[in-house]
Amino acid sequence: MATINKNFTKLPGSYLFSTISKKVSEFEKANPNASIIRLGIGDVTKPLAPTVIDALHSAVDEMAHEDTFKGYAPDLGYTFLREKIAVSDYKDRGCDISADEIFVSDGAKCDCSNIQEIFGLDNTIGVCDPVYPVYVDSNVMAGRTGLYNSDSMRFDNVIYMPCNADNGFVPELPDKAPDLIYLCFPNNPTGAVITKDALQKWVDYAIKNNSVILYDSAYEAFISEENVPHSIYECEGARKCAIEFRSFSKTAGFTGLRLGYTVVPFDLVLDGVALHDLWARRHGTKYNGAPYIVQKAGEAVYSKQGRAEINEAISYYMANAKIILEGLEKAGYEVYGGVNAPYIWLKTPNNMTSWEFFDYLLEKANVVGTPGVGFGPEGEHYYRLTAFGNRENTIEAIDRIVAM
Ligand code: PLP
Repeated sequence: MATINKNFTKLPGSYLFSTISKKVSEFEKANPNASIIRLGIGDVTKPLAPTVIDALHSAVDEMAHEDTFKGYAPDLGYTFLREKIAVSDYKDRGCDISADEIFVSDGAKCDCSNIQEIFGLDNTIGVCDPVYPVYVDSNVMAGRTGLYNSDSMRFDNVIYMPCNADNGFVPELPDKAPDLIYLCFPNNPTGAVITKDALQKWVDYAIKNNSVILYDSAYEAFISEENVPHSIYECEGARKCAIEFRSFSKTAGFTGLRLGYTVVPFDLVLDGVALHDLWARRHGTKYNGAPYIVQKAGEAVYSKQGRAEINEAISYYMANAKIILEGLEKAGYEVYGGVNAPYIWLKTPNNMTSWEFFDYLLEKANVVGTPGVGFGPEGEHYYRLTAFGNRENTIEAIDRIVAM
């Protein structure tokens, strides 16, 4: 008799975004004339850069001719793209990462959820609270956690590392070292960043405790300040203890096109086995490569013109972030993030819960964001707004919130 993977039944269900859309559609039904502005979900709104579109068109044309047609892509990605990544994202920043250590994929979500497959089921995981839920849920599915406790809103056997205003939304080193440590900077949902010195402490800690850091830098392109590391490999020793995930989604508006990559350095060895070999085996067995046309589009992101166009879109979003941040600050809100990340993390006023503030904002300003508690109990009394809306809506949303 076939049976199910019972670990899946431990998951409480994707309560957050389904509850948001239910509440919004009920509100819309009751208030058909309300013009609702959505600053909730972290998806881009700007179209792809012209240089990326040109690269797509010409790659499509190549697919029409026998002599330029491409079938399966190489397992780890096309060399033309991996070399660009190695030079522009790593060597130019002083990081010692070679093209052979880069695995091209269809995005960071798949990679950061699949990576746990190469680790033992007895490994403990450490995650920030609040957290991008994928890190936890993928380990729940694999059976690496205990049951979900609805009172504490946490899974048993997971080391939660609280991130709050007191620690600047950067976790402290846990007393008991997790085997796998998930870190994400610039952070979703708090918009916080980590300094190079603080990240170095995590690297030293991981080496001392034989832990592996799974470093998600999907929002690296939004960093504007000095002394904020763009890659964990800026830290000494990180080649021995860290895997890094990157995404073209927010950097270049590829949320619908799908492209990302993972770096597994050759020096990362556990039990005498190189993790690079394990990830290569996993990748080759379960994945058949990002499409050629998408990898050509990714290559165009690294051209001079492509880079300029992409930076323009990032500046546009970050100007939105500034409008949100300054508007809310002026209105007396306690706000975080929004400087090196497209997320603004605000403290709810008058000690409202995240969901009370959600209802209040929807009712009074017709603006939709994301309740912080949806990312973990430490997110209670916080609220996330994103800078990915268009300018007009962003200004209008903040005007309405300020006028509440
Ligand atoms: N990592 C973080 C922290 C994210 O916020 C997201 C998307 O919202 C992803 C990864 C997913 O990236 P991708 O679109 O490349 O799968």
